[in-house]
Amino acid sequence: MQRTLILLKPDAVQRRLVGEITARFERKGLRLAGLKLVHASRELAEKHYAVHKGKPFYESLLAFLTSGPTVALVWEGREAVAVGRNLMGVTDGAKSPPGTIRGDFALSVQNNLVHGSDSAENAATEIALWFQPDELV
Ligand code: ATP
Ligand code: MG
Repeated sequence: MQRTLILLKPDAVQRRLVGEITARFERKGLRLAGLKLVHASRELAEKHYAVHKGKPFYESLLAFLTSGPTVALVWEGREAVAVGRNLMGVTDGAKSPPGTIRGDFALSVQNNLVHGSDSAENAATEIALWFQPDELV
């Protein structure tokens, strides 16, 4: 079975959307394998978004991800990575179709509520960054 890392970013927690967003993954049929509330350090945020280092939005993105608690989730199931990305929609909330999480609740490019791994390989790396092995069931 494939696993994916989903983050409910600080805007999702601040806007009280944790239940709404988590319910969509549950109803889709994915199995919850890990869940924790984390106030990310700068170090963790840098590692998580290392691929974006040097981009104009990088510092702002780190400030956003460290601005408050994030809910980290590991979901497991058939095609979990692609399923997660489809539930989220595209990066820009304004361009994301209705029915997706970002399409229904986000209007911003940066403050777009959720992160989802974009490949099985990156999922494994990201899960190891946010969770200890014994925190997954
Ligand atoms: P994520 O990696 O969080 O799942 P994504 O894969 O849809 O999102 P990426 O291109 O990986 O998008 O960008 C990572 C995050 O950086 C975005 O989710 C968003 O919060 C922020 N971001 C991306 N592009 C911009 C931009 N042009 N301006 C501001 N913030 C941006
Ligand atoms: Mg990404």
